[in-house]
Amino acid sequence: MNEIKPGTLYLVPTPIGNLSDITERSVEILNNVDLIAAEDTRHTRILLDHLGISKSPVSYHEHNKKEAGPKLIDELKSGHTVAQVSDAGMPVISDPGADLVRLALSEGIPIVPLPGPNAALTALVASGLDARQFVFIGFLPKITAKQKKLLSDISHVPFTLIFYEAPHRLKDTLDTLLKYLGNRRAVTARELTKKFESFNRGTLESIRLHADEEEPRGEYVLLVEGWNESMETGEENQATWQEEAMKQAESLPLKEAARRTAGKFNMSRREIYQFLLENKK
Ligand code: SAM
Repeated sequence: MNEIKPGTLYLVPTPIGNLSDITERSVEILNNVDLIAAEDTRHTRILLDHLGISKSPVSYHEHNKKEAGPKLIDELKSGHTVAQVSDAGMPVISDPGADLVRLALSEGIPIVPLPGPNAALTALVASGLDARQFVFIGFLPKITAKQKKLLSDISHVPFTLIFYEAPHRLKDTLDTLLKYLGNRRAVTARELTKKFESFNRGTLESIRLHADEEEPRGEYVLLVEGWNESMETGEENQATWQEEAMKQAESLPLKEAARRTAGKFNMSRREIYQFLLENKK
């Protein structure tokens, strides 16, 4: 059994879908801490019931952190142990916890992070995109000016970019990324570790088209190829695969035009050929 140290804040990752993905050590810590600080107590209750842990979690989230944070710090100072959990995955990563960590550090409270499930890394390793160097962006800001600033800051970053997005915003986000980053290789990782886990590996454009055909549902990580010298980026880069295919088809047989465009946009030849058959009269 791992020793539990008095007055310590434990950051405990929880499953992102499949309840079996919690580690033995995380279960041990949840069983043995004095307090479990949860983003949503009802959500965490389900996990605790599954694990056979009867203690009641206390609430710590974005909207009560100003009051709940100092109370948890007092508990820690008096020698109690606290586990911080979010609804899914790593606390702090696009989830509450960062302020509690900072507060604890400023009070000299020891922090022990436990490794475990995280949607971004789980998606990255199966994406097929460069996983040696990557940048985690998380959710795009909702305000257009902030989106624009962020995307122009990262438009020339040569590392894989990782985004989180809610299904009802996926189409808008794909449009925004196309606008500022240009059409790049991209992957969606949907419903990771769950029954309907699926990957769509293509380009921002092909994924956007797919989202029109099949309404996005469930949870998504969106990964986008990093910038390289052969790319144009930014708003000026508005050439779409359709435009490219039509241009190629002016001087080439449709099959060859489709082949070349497919290579350039990392898409299926068949989809482009079909498009040319329908549009190049
Ligand atoms: N803390 C979590 C982590 O470590 O991954 C992230 C929490 S954030 C509030 C929730 C977002 O993570 C979702 O909107 C989605 O983008 C992504 N996500 C979480 N679970 C996922 C899953 N099973 N499959 C795909 N994406 C997931």
